[in-house]
Amino acid sequence: MYSSIKHVRRITAAFLMVFAGACGVSQQQEVELGASTAQQVAAELPMLRDGASINYITALGNRLVNATDSRGLAWHFNIVDSREINAFAVPGGWIYVNRGLIEKAGTMSELAGVLAHEIGHVTRRHSVQQMQQAQGANVGLALACTLTRVCESGVSRAAINVGGSALFAKFSRSDEREADAEAVSTTVRAGISPLGIPVMFQTLLNERKNNPSRLDMFFSTHPMEESRITNTQNQINAYSPGEIQGLTRDNQEFQNFKRRLMSLPAPRK
Ligand SMILES: [Zn+2]
Repeated sequence: MYSSIKHVRRITAAFLMVFAGACGVSQQQEVELGASTAQQVAAELPMLRDGASINYITALGNRLVNATDSRGLAWHFNIVDSREINAFAVPGGWIYVNRGLIEKAGTMSELAGVLAHEIGHVTRRHSVQQMQQAQGANVGLALACTLTRVCESGVSRAAINVGGSALFAKFSRSDEREADAEAVSTTVRAGISPLGIPVMFQTLLNERKNNPSRLDMFFSTHPMEESRITNTQNQINAYSPGEIQGLTRDNQEFQNFKRRLMSLPAPRK
């Protein structure tokens, strides 16, 4: 697991303290929190520095963002150079996909679905909402827990999760449903087939059986069960077949990108 989580939680706790007095988190605060968290992420996690790969993920990400973002955020797409299968979003528009997840995606639409899901967490402000909920009774407890780790076990688990929410938010099942629904509608609007979404879920569930340790982080932050496959499939079935058939499932650019990634030196972990 990423050793940096505790450290980043500390930074997050400092922000929680700043936010605790306010009655809501403004977009500017959200972006400031995101920028600071992104700096920590870049310092603590191995970031892939390959320009051509970053250009590809940025182009695909922006294609999706243009179909959904109404707030005009400045988005940043990054690849974590790790074999672990994970993806996460930081408030304000920072999206991270691990190399391990990209290498598991068979087609462009599978990767697009993951990106659109993470983008959905940001546009729906799921982490920000958790922070807002943390204001009040829980915030002092969350801070105490995050700063001192005095209550790592027992009654305060929920508060600890809140304290770490900005980076590795433990999303609720309803957050996941919402982000999945966003992923389907965003990919369709971007001209990309949503059929990659249930395919990728199935890949992740299979991988959990075969290689559970590589997905610990993903499943601890994005609750995942079979119902997410049927839910997204039902949502896709609500479109007319003609609307879905013409959409792009895969292309040469994605396959070139994947081949390039696989040819780079192996990640250290
Ligand atoms: Zn999620």
